[in-house]
Amino acid sequence: MTNECPCGSTLSYDECCGAIIKGKKEAKTAEELMRSRYTAFVKVNVEYLMRTQYKASRSNKNKNKIKRWAQSIQWLNLAIKSVSGGTENDETGVVIFRAYYIENGEYENLYEESYFQKIDGKWMYTKGIDLNMENEEKLFSER
Ligand SMILES: [Zn+2]
Repeated sequence: MTNECPCGSTLSYDECCGAIIKGKKEAKTAEELMRSRYTAFVKVNVEYLMRTQYKASRSNKNKNKIKRWAQSIQWLNLAIKSVSGGTENDETGVVIFRAYYIENGEYENLYEESYFQKIDGKWMYTKGIDLNMENEEKLFSER
């Protein structure tokens, strides 16, 4: 069994998202933070997800909900579709990605436009727009 990082970077977990999740290094870019959050989902590390989300609802109810969901699905892979801003020199960034997973025996994917902002010098996830939902809404409104 290899110890490749779940984010698909081909680096080992410890060199890649693991170092960020364990606090050994900071995410330098919005994409790095995004990848580490995906990996934290794979590893069901809800604490890390909460810590890297700006004004996350830290209630135990919310935490348990995320945990239950993360445990119930099997992540397949992550595909970064586009990145704008989010470099070391930026204050904000937007990353569009698809994350593939299996839930209740069905292939599903999360297609999201994620917004990131540097807060006190650290990249934080601020909000996400579900693009699958947006596309569905567009389809409905066109009828
Ligand atoms: Zn990684």
